[in-house]
Parts: sequence; structure tokens; C-alpha cells
Amino acid sequence: MIEGDTPNSMGGTALHNSFAFFLPSGMEPQNYYLMLAHEYFHSWLGGKIHREEQEELTKWFTEGFTDYYSRVLAMRSGIISVNDFILECNQFFRNYYLSPVLNEPNTRIQTDFWKKHDVEKLPYYRGFMFAIYLNNFIKLNNKDNSLDNVMLDLFKATQATKDKKFSTALFKNIMKKYIPHGIDKEIADFIEKGKTIDLSNVTTNLPLQKINMGVFDLGFDLDTLVNEYVIKNIDIKSNAYKAGLREGNKAIGWDITHNPDQIATIITANNNVFKYRPEQKKDIYQ
Ligand SMILES: [Zn+2]
Repeated sequence: MIEGDTPNSMGGTALHNSFAFFLPSGMEPQNYYLMLAHEYFHSWLGGKIHREEQEELTKWFTEGFTDYYSRVLAMRSGIISVNDFILECNQFFRNYYLSPVLNEPNTRIQTDFWKKHDVEKLPYYRGFMFAIYLNNFIKLNNKDNSLDNVMLDLFKATQATKDKKFSTALFKNIMKKYIPHGIDKEIADFIEKGKTIDLSNVTTNLPLQKINMGVFDLGFDLDTLVNEYVIKNIDIKSNAYKAGLREGNKAIGWDITHNPDQIATIITANNNVFKYRPEQKKDIYQ
């Protein structure tokens, strides 16, 4: 293990019965445990259960389910408390529901996974949410079953013959044992099309509440601003509009961070200065 001094900068690789890591100094112990749990779970998802389809198209499973199970198993083994587990879930819910690419289709993950940070993170959040959704969906049908049964069946199915691999088709097939009418619609809507996963369909045993939160919203098209110095597609409900910016304004300067709490500044022709919070309020589950 090598210690670096750049916060949030980390990397690593799995080796034979070991890992090699490059980690920032002063990392919170819990994040260290969860990272190890995540990497170790890949000895199952990836190591023992291989995949058949395009890598990026099944990241919702290989990464999202790994993020889910690393936390579930860390809680069950007492490495993190139930309260810590809830805080982790809330963080994933915020990351998912507030993601600027929330409703992008699965094919977008294939094209932009290595190019855009928000797209790269999407399958982790989407898969985590989908695991929670399915776990509760299964329990609604029969409270003695859970997603764990599906995972064990999947493991057995992929070990039965040597070249049997994970595929969405195999996953759907195994799910039929627990959800008799299958999950074709859920996979098509939530994974392939990227519709928002609504937990209200499965909330009988989840203590959820909706919280109103700010999400980053510039109020107009960022690319056109950067490339053509023009305010385009302004949303009349946005804070940018309320601050006085209008469609077609020419910009001569700006200061924008992707943080809804930090004031955005836009300077237009004649040195008019507009300042506003680039946010939109949204109800999300916690
Ligand atoms: Zn991973």
C-alpha cells in the first residue's frame, strides 16, 4: 500500500490473494473498510461470476450490486453499524436522485463511461438502487426470500458449466423463480431506458421519507455558453431567469462551479453582472 497526499485520489488492483493500493493519507477508517469490501466482493462478481455482455452495459450489476453487497456484508459482519448503513444508503439515494444524468439510457454508459465523470458514476448508483428495489420486490412476493437467494442461484448457475457467464437474460430468468411474472419491464424501464427508480412501489417495509433538496441547475445550456458565449435554452422557472438573465444574452465572462450552494456569476455585454444560486429544488427519498 502506498500513501498519497492528494485527497480523493486513489487506485488499486487485485492480485493473487492480495491487493495493491494507492490511497490518500488520512482516509476515514470506514471508507477504507468499504473500499476493501467492494474490491473483495469483485472476487465473486467478476472473479467467479464472469460476464458475457459488453462490459459497460452490465456495470449496473458488476459495480452497482458490488456497492450494495459490500455495504450489506460490512453491516452483517459488524464492520459498520446499522446506523452507518443507513447513512450510506442515504448518500447513494442523494447521488442517484440528484445525478445530472439520472435518466440517461444504458447505452449512454457504454459510449461515455470513460469520458464523463457523472456517466461513469451512474451505473454504481443505479445498480445500488435497483438492488434495493429488487430486494424489496422479492420480499413483497414472499417475505422469506431476498436478493441473496438470487445471487446464490446465479453463482450456482454460472459454476455449473465452465463457460456459463452472467448475462441480463440469465439474471431475468433466475428472477422468475422469485417474481413469477418476471422483471422484463423493470430491466427495460430502470436499466435500459433509464427511468427513475421509484421505491414507492416496494415501500411496505422500507422506512422512507421524502426530503426537499437543492440540485445543481444552471438554468440554461452550459455548452452553448462555453462554446458560443450565448445564453441559450433558458428555463423561465430557473434562478438564472429570476436573476434577470434572458435568452440570447451575450456573455463576456462567468464563474460557475457545479455546486448548488455556490453562487454562479455571469457577466454579459455592457458589464451587467448576474449572481444567483444554480439550483433547483427536488423531492427525493431518504
Ligand atoms: Zn468495482
